[in-house]
Amino acid sequence: MTARAAFWAILYFGLILLPMLVLLFAGERAPGRGFWFELSMGLGFAAMAMFAAQFALTARFRRATHPFGIDVLYDFHRILAIAALAIVLGHWVILFVGFRETVGPIDPRVAPWEITLGRVALGCFAIVVVTSEFRKRLRLEYGLWRYIHAGLAVIGFIAAVGHIGGVGYYTDTALKQTLWLAITLSFLGLIAWTRIGKPVQQLRQPWRIVENRPERGGAYSLVLEPEGHDGFGHLWRPGQFAWLTLRASPFALREHPFSMATPPEEGPRLAFGIKPQGDFTAMARDARPGEIAYLDGPYGVFTIDRFPDAPGFVFVAGGIGITPIVANLRAMAARGDRRRATLFYCNPTWDAVAYREDLEALSQRMDLHIVHVLEEPPEDWTGEAGLLDGEILERHLPEDRRGLVAFLCGPPPLTAAAQGVLVELGLAPSRIESELFELV
Ligand SMILES: Cc1cc2nc3c(=O)[nH]c(=O)nc-3n(C[C@H](O)[C@H](O)[C@H](O)COP(=O)(O)OP(=O)(O)OC[C@H]3O[C@@H](n4cnc5c(N)ncnc54)[C@H](O)[C@@H]3O)c2cc1C
Repeated sequence: MTARAAFWAILYFGLILLPMLVLLFAGERAPGRGFWFELSMGLGFAAMAMFAAQFALTARFRRATHPFGIDVLYDFHRILAIAALAIVLGHWVILFVGFRETVGPIDPRVAPWEITLGRVALGCFAIVVVTSEFRKRLRLEYGLWRYIHAGLAVIGFIAAVGHIGGVGYYTDTALKQTLWLAITLSFLGLIAWTRIGKPVQQLRQPWRIVENRPERGGAYSLVLEPEGHDGFGHLWRPGQFAWLTLRASPFALREHPFSMATPPEEGPRLAFGIKPQGDFTAMARDARPGEIAYLDGPYGVFTIDRFPDAPGFVFVAGGIGITPIVANLRAMAARGDRRRATLFYCNPTWDAVAYREDLEALSQRMDLHIVHVLEEPPEDWTGEAGLLDGEILERHLPEDRRGLVAFLCGPPPLTAAAQGVLVELGLAPSRIESELFELV
């Protein structure tokens, strides 16, 4: 796993550095215009390569996402976007301060077209970064944000290619022109793959809803069956998730991620546990048996399969965060895995405990110790009450905690607190996995 992660990381940085190396060392070099000017050009090319690589990071190539986990890649994508924007701003500031004549007038009617394209690219990238960082504060609905994000990223990239080609600095030899053509074509290839190739694949492998039943806590179990294909097959691991499209074509960019609450052992049929939060999840609640759905998956690394050597597991779930955990537990029961599993399951009330009876039944089939933690327990409640804390965890965890692997899924304050306490209690940070139900 680490070697594969290192391979993809090296490939990524190689792709970022390649354009600059070619520009510096391939063929004749244009007469230099001094350190600051060359630095500004270098920054511009570096930022361009980074923006191009951003499309690859979110193209969901399974082999590349697997060693890291898709949430880590999305985080990387976010941080690199900020870094690339800072770098491209550096490119512009140096020119603005030291070489004002190259920046030209701001009025697009009189400014050279290639300089205007540079400004358009900068503006698009800035809006993409700001709307992503402050989406919630700007009260930007997720679906609308996604359209803005994808649209402006493409416009910004095309404008940047035009800017570089129009300015022509450092792109004067055949080799350098070939390089920029290759970068542009790979970018177009990625767009074609994510916006056309993947949706076509999903259209060819539809799923049919066979059941939609209410669970406790306002959640719903949406059960799907592959329609004329084998489903996720050997790719699927317990605890993974898929992007779900309902009542729309896979081309519509209206897909939402959900963890499978069932394990591959119960496949090819699968079930999602969905809690209504907004428009899409409300629509999922109303979905009827017989309707067609499309899935892109499976993805994710929140799975016990990554730790075959673990002597036992600790699971911490908050509310609907139970879904990938219940899938891992179901897989253990189906496999006759007798390793000890301790589940801390936090909910507001006893009635809100989704999969309550299923978990009880699982505890009869495996070595599962369930600790329900209720914020507002009923009067006769003798179990744990309040918020999950170190005392509750310590009371129920085995004395010998060395080597245990923990899986945390729930609201960020819960997973962050549990992570800190579990480390204090002796679990290795590298053996604590969290799944966040939010990608930006
Ligand atoms: C890896 C993963 C697994 C998940 N598993 C489950 C699950 O098993 N059960 C469950 O109920 N929920 C799950 N979620 C959360 C679920 O995807 C969101 O609740 C749902 O997309 C909300 O959409 P909405 O239109 O109903 O609500 P909105 O009000 O539009 O969204 C609520 C919040 O959900 C997030 N969100 C919305 N749309 C998307 C999207 N397309 N992609 C990513 N995030 C989005 C945003 O942070 C948004 O602020 C999971 C999320 C992730 C990232």
